[in-house]
Amino acid sequence: MHNRLFTPGPTEVRPEILQRLATPQIHHRSPQCLELYAEIQPKLQRLLYTKNPVFLFTSSSTGAMEAAATNLVEKRCLNLVNGAFSERWHEITTWNRVPCDRMDVDWSQAIKPEMVDRQLASGAYDAVTLVYNETSTGLANPLAEIATVVNSYHDVHLLVDAVSAMAGVKIETDKLGIDFLLAGTQKAFALPAGIAVAAMSERALARAERIEPRNYYFNLKLMYKYHLRNQTPSTPSIPHMYALNAQLDDILSEGLEKRFTRHRAMAKRVQSWAEKYFAIYPEQGYWSQTLTCIANTRQISVADLVKTLIANNNVRIANGYGALKEKTFRIAHMGDTQIYEIDGVLAAIEDILRLR
Ligand SMILES: *Cc1c(COP(=O)(O)O)cnc(C)c1O
Repeated sequence: MHNRLFTPGPTEVRPEILQRLATPQIHHRSPQCLELYAEIQPKLQRLLYTKNPVFLFTSSSTGAMEAAATNLVEKRCLNLVNGAFSERWHEITTWNRVPCDRMDVDWSQAIKPEMVDRQLASGAYDAVTLVYNETSTGLANPLAEIATVVNSYHDVHLLVDAVSAMAGVKIETDKLGIDFLLAGTQKAFALPAGIAVAAMSERALARAERIEPRNYYFNLKLMYKYHLRNQTPSTPSIPHMYALNAQLDDILSEGLEKRFTRHRAMAKRVQSWAEKYFAIYPEQGYWSQTLTCIANTRQISVADLVKTLIANNNVRIANGYGALKEKTFRIAHMGDTQIYEIDGVLAAIEDILRLR
């Protein structure tokens, strides 16, 4: 029996979309594959509110995070850290021997623009990494305000992980002046993991052209060269491209504004439920629109709750991430999930915990 996913990645994939993965294989240098690549491009540009190229990576999001760290820092990178994924980005930067520093903020607190301003004032940095929606804590950092600060510094590039927000929350890439915006597809895109996308600004492209290559598979200069002919340097996951192309059609026909409104409505539902029976882990005012991280104020066994939901309801939610295990649990409300399904999960939890 399939367990329906309400986890903040991977998320539930509709059967029609799964079927696209079974499209007969084509050659990656064939006209059909180039056409498929070219078809995907403008749809991604619409979704990301950008005129710039959107690259496809055959990897999960972590690969695109690595591409940003290795291709877009000339001088020194500032890694903003307030959760597990932003910490990972710092680790990626360090392991690749790219000069960097981390700025740590308590995991329950948002990164504030003035904190970023204070760091950048040193003049030491030419790039900043920011995880917009911290999936480990259910916290959305104030992207627009941080972007304004970063853009006030000449030639400091803003690199944004929007993994669990993209396709669920509006992100106006060009307007915000984001230089690199990345996401994998197993979160709000509601596709299986295996492909990641990233939009890149013109100045970021120019920087990638200039920088001495630090790696091969995730080399953005090479990717751009192939992008101009609707290709990728190495064989892409063509099944994922078919699924992505179909899912983008469905996302655009739902309507972007409607999709974002649906996400806001689902978030509101879970947030008011969580406030009624528990509490919400991150600081107020910065709650994620795509998942809620609930503080375990009733000292329940989260592991038992997760198990019982699977056994009784064929539904999977997520325990807290890392050190937040048992202290929190997370319910995803993203992708193609509908509000009535959210109501079903919340009612099931009420039954199990005898909250009514
Ligand atoms: C899931 C996630 C990642 C890592 O994604 P993978 O697909 O496992 O590489 C990175 N950042 C955020 C914010 C995420 O939610």
